[in-house]
Amino acid sequence: MLTEDPKSVILGGGLWLRLSFSEVSTLIGLEKLGLDRIEEDDQWIKLGSQVTLRDLQTSTPLQSLAGGILSQASEHIMGIGVRNVATIGGTICGRYGFSDLLTALLALDARLVFFKTEELSLKQYLAKKKPLRDILLSIRIRKTPGAGYFHKISTTALDFAILNLAIARRAGKYKIVVGSRPGIAKCAENAMEYLDQIENPSESDILKATQLALEELTFSTNLKATQEYRQELARVYVERGLKAVIGLEY
Ligand SMILES: Cc1cc2nc3c(=O)[nH]c(=O)nc-3n(C[C@H](O)[C@H](O)[C@H](O)COP(=O)(O)OP(=O)(O)OC[C@H]3O[C@@H](n4cnc5c(N)ncnc54)[C@H](O)[C@@H]3O)c2cc1C
Repeated sequence: MLTEDPKSVILGGGLWLRLSFSEVSTLIGLEKLGLDRIEEDDQWIKLGSQVTLRDLQTSTPLQSLAGGILSQASEHIMGIGVRNVATIGGTICGRYGFSDLLTALLALDARLVFFKTEELSLKQYLAKKKPLRDILLSIRIRKTPGAGYFHKISTTALDFAILNLAIARRAGKYKIVVGSRPGIAKCAENAMEYLDQIENPSESDILKATQLALEELTFSTNLKATQEYRQELARVYVERGLKAVIGLEY
């Protein structure tokens, strides 16, 4: 149905679809496919695409994965009513620039399992120019132990982020992700590569990595904040986040 009719649409929680004005011929519900479960084995946590933000917030395995950054990212999105309905599938396939979850999921190196398309990393998926005409079935995250830091800066508790950040250090490898710049979440690749080569980063290594991140990521102005303000926020919170995952005082 999805491939035959360009106006047919997959239904996640339906919250964002409800706010959009595009014409829809058929809404395709996935609720009978058992995609609303969080499962785990020795190596992976598997999230069905219909798992809600509230499930992510309260899941015990996610609360202990990399400092619980995915649960924390969910916790600050609207109230429980919205979190009970909004899904992880709708969040990923909507590819929103403001998304807090995409930032945390990139830091966890999430992998996406589709009905037709071969498995992709979230990074590969977000790099695609257009969303795929496919069904996202599940999301896989490695259970590699490590530390994590998530921070959302917004004008009020329930507002969209002016900037959000997620930093993870797992098995000696770093992920530094900044979202709502206001562009979609992006990894600071040069900064990550720099830190990956250092066994015990010092304060000056952290400052150098923060500077690299600021040079490679782009920031811009919109109604919420100016480019300069976003850049300064990123400077402060990337440094704090790195100190937190490395175990230095900040
Ligand atoms: C009032 C409000 C405030 C919000 N504030 C924030 C915020 O502060 N931070 C934040 O990060 N997010 C925020 N969100 C976004 C929210 O977290 C969800 O990302 C958003 O609602 C989309 O999820 P959904 O389940 O409602 O998706 P839907 O609206 O159902 O779908 C969104 C898109 O994804 C597609 N889709 C859904 N599921 C699949 C699937 N399995 N396979 C393929 N395509 C699929 C749909 O066809 C559609 O194109 C907010 C949303 C609302 C309504």
